[in-house]
Amino acid sequence: MIKINSMDWKPIKKTFDKWSVRPTLLDYTTTCASFSWESILKEIDGLPDGKGINIAHEAVVRHAMEGRGNHLAIRWLSRDGAIRDYSYHDLHSQSNQFANVLRQLSINRGDRVFVLSGRIPELYISALGTLKNVSVFCPLFSAFGSEPIRQRLSKGDARVLVTTQKLYKQKVADLRKHLPLLKHILLADVEEDIEEGLWSLPKQMAKSSDRFSIPQTDPEDMALLHFTSGTTGMPKGAIHVHNAVLTHYMTGKYVLDFHPDDVFWCTADPGWVTGTSYGIIAPLTHGITSIIDEADFDAERWFRILEEQKVNIWYTAPTALRRLMRMDIEPCRQYNLSNLRIIHSVGEPLNPEVVKWGQETLELPIHDNWWQTETGGIMIANYASMDIRPGSMGRPLPGIEAAIVQRTNKNDIKIIEEPEVEGDLALKPGWPSMFRGYLHDEERHRKCFVGGWYITGDLAKRDADGYFWFVGRADDIIKTSGHMVGPFEVESVLMEHPSVAEAGVIGKPEPLIGELVKAFVCLKPGFEPAEKLRLEIMGFARKKLGSAVAPKQIDFVDNLPKTRSGKIMRRLLKARELGLPEGDISTLETDS
Ligand code: AMP
Repeated sequence: MIKINSMDWKPIKKTFDKWSVRPTLLDYTTTCASFSWESILKEIDGLPDGKGINIAHEAVVRHAMEGRGNHLAIRWLSRDGAIRDYSYHDLHSQSNQFANVLRQLSINRGDRVFVLSGRIPELYISALGTLKNVSVFCPLFSAFGSEPIRQRLSKGDARVLVTTQKLYKQKVADLRKHLPLLKHILLADVEEDIEEGLWSLPKQMAKSSDRFSIPQTDPEDMALLHFTSGTTGMPKGAIHVHNAVLTHYMTGKYVLDFHPDDVFWCTADPGWVTGTSYGIIAPLTHGITSIIDEADFDAERWFRILEEQKVNIWYTAPTALRRLMRMDIEPCRQYNLSNLRIIHSVGEPLNPEVVKWGQETLELPIHDNWWQTETGGIMIANYASMDIRPGSMGRPLPGIEAAIVQRTNKNDIKIIEEPEVEGDLALKPGWPSMFRGYLHDEERHRKCFVGGWYITGDLAKRDADGYFWFVGRADDIIKTSGHMVGPFEVESVLMEHPSVAEAGVIGKPEPLIGELVKAFVCLKPGFEPAEKLRLEIMGFARKKLGSAVAPKQIDFVDNLPKTRSGKIMRRLLKARELGLPEGDISTLETDS
């Protein structure tokens, strides 16, 4: 989905007359000029006795020790209407217990602890306990099918998996024979241990002390492993370290605009990076209250939550906002949204129409921001105090240098100084939450850096005032409902079906979810295209990949366009599907 030109929309002027607080970042230029990461380092606590920096210390221990222990940290809203509250003290002691569970299982520094679950309290407690133990927290999206789960557990050398009984039976039990390192499964909803290695989490927690002292943590110790899809090959595990907490804290302050009494709701699932960096860590580092909703999207429920929980800051995604926009609801008349101060959006292009809809219907503009798994935190944003140019992702964070660049050769780039010229969006490396590598994939990591810049994989342009505008992906990665899908993963699974000879997968623009996953399939001899077979392949892919990743459309084709070296030309498949010019097809393989 391509944004329209910057000139077509008038900026939205910002006022704070009705705000109970002032935005922290009041003057962008001055803040950028005086900013240093050293000053942010001074604002975080650090482990006692100079033992380093640990994310969980900043998120919970600090507040429990500094007299904020009774403040509400997390209010969990269950699917069926129950509410469970966790103060900072509660999170502190329960995450201590989880850290002790890991210790008793001989899970140590650097060991990977995966969590596969919906948004349940155990997920949050496991994340914090894992970080306290200096093990590595690796979240998995619960709507994944068994294949993406197997790949990630295997590539991430999973030692522990926290999950629920249902997810275990449906998606994990059959995989265990392929995962020799995965010795311990902790079931969050089972009261008794089932067998050696298949433990009841509540029982293990009950046996464990609620006292735990975080060991020395090097700021460069691995803390988080987030898998993200690539165009070729299997998913990549982006490594983040404890020092990333500086970015989490700093963006909470300057972008999300957290103030001590705020109630914050990030609707993202912790299976994806936004749900961890901002659904868990950033609000806790500011000692504020987070709302966690277990249920899936439901417009009325969402507006009720905003009203009843008196949410001040709401961080959500374009797909959800577009869905709300389509509903026949007049939110400001039907609900009391007077506590809502600021709305943020991330993950995919935010259409200018949605920003305008926010202004008109929610009486608040929507602040787009940009970042990705590899950056670990927000990098480009619309700030509370700055006028919004609808359709723009905003301006780089203080301390972040962003540029539009063009490759001059394999090893170098040139910075495009002129405004309004499209090119690769690049960042100058060195911010604290920059990924430190892809696990077991040094070559892929190295290729992201050219001429001293990190090349993000996105195409963008910058206007004369320094606002960045998203243009598209430079590769074939698909963004569907805000989730990254690698075409190669989908093609590989389709080819496991006995009838499929070859498959090519593209993202097809769709107004609500951004792009839908569409597959073109060539059948093996002896199979004929038929509706029954299409549905069978669709069901097969859905079972293996899960609903978030599987193709929503499948077309049968006689052959797929390929380069002379045999690579499927997805770009061409897409152009043909959309009736667009085919571009350079000089490398296309022909029958002659
Ligand atoms: P992920 O690593 O899954 O968080 O996805 C990151 C990618 O999502 C980016 O590289 C962009 O392609 C896309 N993205 C994130 N935020 C935005 C935004 N505000 N506007 C346009 N695309 C975005």
